[in-house]
Amino acid sequence: MKYLKSITDSFGKIHKFKLVKGAGIYIHIPFCIKKCHYCDFCSVLYDHTLLDLYVDTLIKEIDYRRDETCLIDSIYFGGGTPSLLDDYQISKVLETVNNAFTINKNCEITLEANPASYDLNRAKRLIKSCINRISIGIQSLNDDELKILGRIHDKKKAVESIEIAKDAGFKNISVDLIYGVSNQDLLSWSKTLKEIISLNPQHISTYELTFNENTLISRDNRLQKASEEVIEKIYLYTVQFLTKSGFIHYEISNYSREGFHSVHNMNYWTRGKYIGFGVSAHSFDGFKRSANTSDINDYIALINDNKTATKDMEYIDEEKAKEEQIFLGLRTINGINKELLKGKDGIINRLYRGGLIEFFDDRIRLTSKGLILSNEIILQVL
Ligand code: SF4
Repeated sequence: MKYLKSITDSFGKIHKFKLVKGAGIYIHIPFCIKKCHYCDFCSVLYDHTLLDLYVDTLIKEIDYRRDETCLIDSIYFGGGTPSLLDDYQISKVLETVNNAFTINKNCEITLEANPASYDLNRAKRLIKSCINRISIGIQSLNDDELKILGRIHDKKKAVESIEIAKDAGFKNISVDLIYGVSNQDLLSWSKTLKEIISLNPQHISTYELTFNENTLISRDNRLQKASEEVIEKIYLYTVQFLTKSGFIHYEISNYSREGFHSVHNMNYWTRGKYIGFGVSAHSFDGFKRSANTSDINDYIALINDNKTATKDMEYIDEEKAKEEQIFLGLRTINGINKELLKGKDGIINRLYRGGLIEFFDDRIRLTSKGLILSNEIILQVL
């Protein structure tokens, strides 16, 4: 891995960021015990037989798309609930990846886990299988909010899952949280954040709840999205609280202790190459983006018929690549090179006077206030 030149944050502190020179691998495990009320990810209900068949198919796809010359800096098991894989399945998938690609010896290997899906012995075995980063879907430490979200765990289980991961020996623990749950106020969110900090994870992702079409939460008339005002307060509080607690706000929704940013996700935001395996997984080779079919039966049939599972493909021309650099870069602490916004002095001056952007070196990035309005700002500058 190479190091990006140090970045000075808005407080004048200097941070170093590992950036990959190889590619990332994403492996989608689309099985869950129960569908969460807000979920619009590609997931189906857990079925033992179907999972076995799916893993066999996944192994076939990885082997079929092998490229021993490709260096891999991160592997990410996402879902779904990848912690539903048994030890043998995780080892088998990793062994196949290892045989098919060149794995960097410092490769970051993340597994997303549901708090209700592992105990101490299992967590220890995950480490033995070479998983060196665990990303736990905590979402909230408030039982009422967890019920609204339709999660299968409660606060007690959530806290235990972080303690278990630490006791097992995980040195890189990430926690996912969701804000903007109906009736949530700043007080309940701040309680969750404070308790999470006391458990000392190395990485925290905070996502605003979205009411996507066809989700249970969007069909329930009793539930409403928290107001824009509450969302803004929560966002600004989170930035302030977590940065004061020693976390680096390195991406719009992500915070890490020094050196613990997600290598895998940084690769997405810096337009690095990635290879996605499994149903609905996406890939990018530097020139084109492609996506596998999002129908699990279709995926299994295509791969076992020795056909490609790719359903969508888009070639990225120069103009599109520049747009991607802008909207992905503006999400991060590294911002973008000023050159990318050449000829947009009027907009830039207005955003600067409004306290929405700041300049550093020869670059531009969004301030915390700007990040709240990132979608609108990006539309203005594109
Ligand atoms: S655990 Fe994740 S993928 Fe599974 S249903 Fe819940 S939100 Fe969706």
